[in-house]
Amino acid sequence: MAKDKLKVGIIGAGIGGLATALRLSAKAGFEVDVFEANSYPGGKLSEFRLGEYRFDAGPSLFTMPQYVDELYQLARPTNIPPLPYQKMDTVCHYFWEDGTRIDAAASPDAFAREVEEKLKVPGSVVLQKLEDSARKYQLTGDTFLHKSLHHLNTWTTSSVAKALLQLPRLNIFRSMHQDNRKRLKHPKLVQLFNRFATYNGSDPYRATALLNMIPHFEHGIGTYFPEGGMFAITDHIYKLGKEKGVRYHFDSPVEKILVKDGRARGLLVNGKEKAFDLVVSNMDVFFTYRNLLADQKAPERMLRQEKSTSALIFYWGIGKQFSELDLHNIFFSEDYQAEFEHLRQGKIYEDPTVYINIGSKYAPEDAPAHGENWFTMVNVPYDSGQDWDKLIAQTRNRVLKKLSRMLGTDIEPLIEVEDLLEPRSIQRKTSSHLGALYGTASNSQMAAFLRHPNFSRRIDDLYFCGGSVHPGGGIPLCLLSAKIVEQEIKRTHGG
Ligand SMILES: Cc1cc2nc3c(=O)[nH]c(=O)nc-3n(C[C@H](O)[C@H](O)[C@H](O)COP(=O)(O)OP(=O)(O)OC[C@H]3O[C@@H](n4cnc5c(N)ncnc54)[C@H](O)[C@@H]3O)c2cc1C
Repeated sequence: MAKDKLKVGIIGAGIGGLATALRLSAKAGFEVDVFEANSYPGGKLSEFRLGEYRFDAGPSLFTMPQYVDELYQLARPTNIPPLPYQKMDTVCHYFWEDGTRIDAAASPDAFAREVEEKLKVPGSVVLQKLEDSARKYQLTGDTFLHKSLHHLNTWTTSSVAKALLQLPRLNIFRSMHQDNRKRLKHPKLVQLFNRFATYNGSDPYRATALLNMIPHFEHGIGTYFPEGGMFAITDHIYKLGKEKGVRYHFDSPVEKILVKDGRARGLLVNGKEKAFDLVVSNMDVFFTYRNLLADQKAPERMLRQEKSTSALIFYWGIGKQFSELDLHNIFFSEDYQAEFEHLRQGKIYEDPTVYINIGSKYAPEDAPAHGENWFTMVNVPYDSGQDWDKLIAQTRNRVLKKLSRMLGTDIEPLIEVEDLLEPRSIQRKTSSHLGALYGTASNSQMAAFLRHPNFSRRIDDLYFCGGSVHPGGGIPLCLLSAKIVEQEIKRTHGG
């Protein structure tokens, strides 16, 4: 007699939930239902339109596309093509108030030449820095990102032994900034490399220098742009899942995880109990415990960890084309240390670093012929009850002044349509605790170990994926969390 399929209930159709659903449904033996509170998939990785402009709501930088390709290989669909994307020759354009501009090529050699020309720093300094980033990633990436840190056998492999032997060279007890200052010296180059801390909402003056592996993602592995914009990633994984038989239920907020005899046994959705053999939560782990497992003991120490930063985003349809701008553009603050000091204190610095992403540069259909879709972002603290309306109005003013000054054009009159995302609406739209973009902060050396594992230690058959759990936030890591959940389920249930 054929074995019954295991029924899996997934809470949330964020990128982690979508990828987990696809991975399990691509394997024989699992029947998957995804319940999503919103009426659309993707969570933070969603899209919206304003008049003639289309905007990606959250992520704008696509790295590690191999993890999307891996999902495609697993699904082997009959009538869906692979996700089309292009590698970017220039990863970011950096601007300073004194007129210095660095166009950071993906190619380490070209980047080093540009730095030598613009900052008079020998190119070898940049090349050695990038070699160090690659080494840090190669030594630790496999252990910290691809596996659960919560099983003994993760720590008894030869790759861990190799990493431990190299510990002194990983500089884990220095901050990113200390390491960058020692290696790079030039304040602008230090600032440029410090900004990689913001990849996971961290503070370069506190986060361990191990995070200096991040530049390798851009200059070693590359940055990419999916055809049609970032939402194409969500749409692709969603459609692959659909083809594999995943049942998606939108406008379906889960109210409770049903636990019986120490095992997750189902979900309460729209007042109805639904039985499942396994439950995976892609909802922020804080709210999973507080709202869906309110009668269970919660891992309080983990839930109390410092949150990552949040963001203030002005979505502006700009009625002009700026030839000096490209896909990723960063306008640095004069005093980066003061900016992070403010974030630490729950404030926004008066001269914030401004990031502008313009998807329409590579997806012209996203803006009218005369315009561009600006995703204008400033890092802000997570929500701790600040007077956000006042802060937003103040910051909007300052950002407009800064950009007008640095671009030599009055920006405000060019805004044709406008919308806003801020810590309170990030929490409201995606249930992300305090509006943090990347779950918990990575500011301590222990951060990786303190993040919630991809399974529950107290409740059997309950798993976790997405940016608030191991290995952390950002699209690539959320996709890896789905892979680890699949490994965990395989470990306990076969398949
Ligand atoms: C403004 C911004 C910029 C970013 N920039 C980048 C970037 O450039 N590159 C990058 O890689 N990453 C970036 N990130 C981070 C990245 O977006 C996230 O790490 C990732 O998308 C999180 O995915 P997730 O799987 O954790 O799910 P989320 O996107 O957090 O979605 C969780 C889903 O669960 C649903 N849900 C919650 N509770 C329930 C419930 N009770 N019942 C049913 N459904 C529920 C929510 O509605 C939501 O759809 C950015 C994030 C933001 C907000």
